[in-house]
Amino acid sequence: MATSNKVMLVTGGSRGIGAAIVEAAIIRGYDLCINYTRAEPEANALVDKAAAAGLNAIAVQADVGSAEQVDKLYTEIDNKFGRLDVLMNNAGIVAEPSKFEDLEEQRIRRIMDINLMGAIYCAKAAVKRMSTQHNGNGGSIVNISSIAAILGGPNEYVDYAMSKGAMDSMTTGLAKEVADNGIRVNAIRPGLIYTDIHASGGEPGRVDRLANLVPMQRGGTAMEVALAALWLASDEASYVTGSFLNVSGGR
Ligand code: NAP
Repeated sequence: MATSNKVMLVTGGSRGIGAAIVEAAIIRGYDLCINYTRAEPEANALVDKAAAAGLNAIAVQADVGSAEQVDKLYTEIDNKFGRLDVLMNNAGIVAEPSKFEDLEEQRIRRIMDINLMGAIYCAKAAVKRMSTQHNGNGGSIVNISSIAAILGGPNEYVDYAMSKGAMDSMTTGLAKEVADNGIRVNAIRPGLIYTDIHASGGEPGRVDRLANLVPMQRGGTAMEVALAALWLASDEASYVTGSFLNVSGGR
């Protein structure tokens, strides 16, 4: 079904920062593809919320770490909307804290597959649809990186930090490569944000434990990240590309 609304894909849109991006996008009138792996009820609830606002939305289960599943995800977008204006490259995972010398190969590969390869697969597919060189209308890609890309994640997850550091390099290089094709590519580096990602890394109270390291002396909310991401994606940021916005309370 063709739509006149701008269409946004949010990877990992079912929970946390991704869900907040979806909520903010609904207020701004985007049609939405909400990607998830396991949180189907949460993704479907967001679809219902978008529909109640008069918007078109679909929830699509796909592991972004799989090139085949990303292909299927984009086929669903093509079939439903016939366009893509914004990619929020948000899906990401952490693992349990580990010293660098003890990092296991399987864990590193899983982090790289989802955080880095997933972002690459999704960005490649987005460029093919957005680029004016391919008769697209241009668009915007926002990579949800991490302040860990700068801090390095010592004693916890250097592998995670490396995946985000590589995402930052992709942001810089891809932004320059497609700047003349109507596509802007930027990144957000969240700091300590209250979401379930910390529990999935084995420490639900991590944000409060480390809040005193933040100049603002508090963790951030998913919506504080989402609003920055929505601004970067919007026409208000029309001359912004290859930029990094730290949403980290000064950390
Ligand atoms: P979260 O609360 O754990 O949510 C993660 C989201 O990603 C969920 O919707 C999850 O869907 C989805 N997801 C996980 N693996 C996936 C996969 N293989 N394919 C597709 N979707 C997948 O995490 P968050 O804190 O919102 O993090 C979102 C992004 O922000 C991540 O890239 C993270 O690295 C980054 N970030 C977070 C913080 C923080 O403090 N929270 C700080 C810096 C950067 P299901 O539930 O369906 O599996």
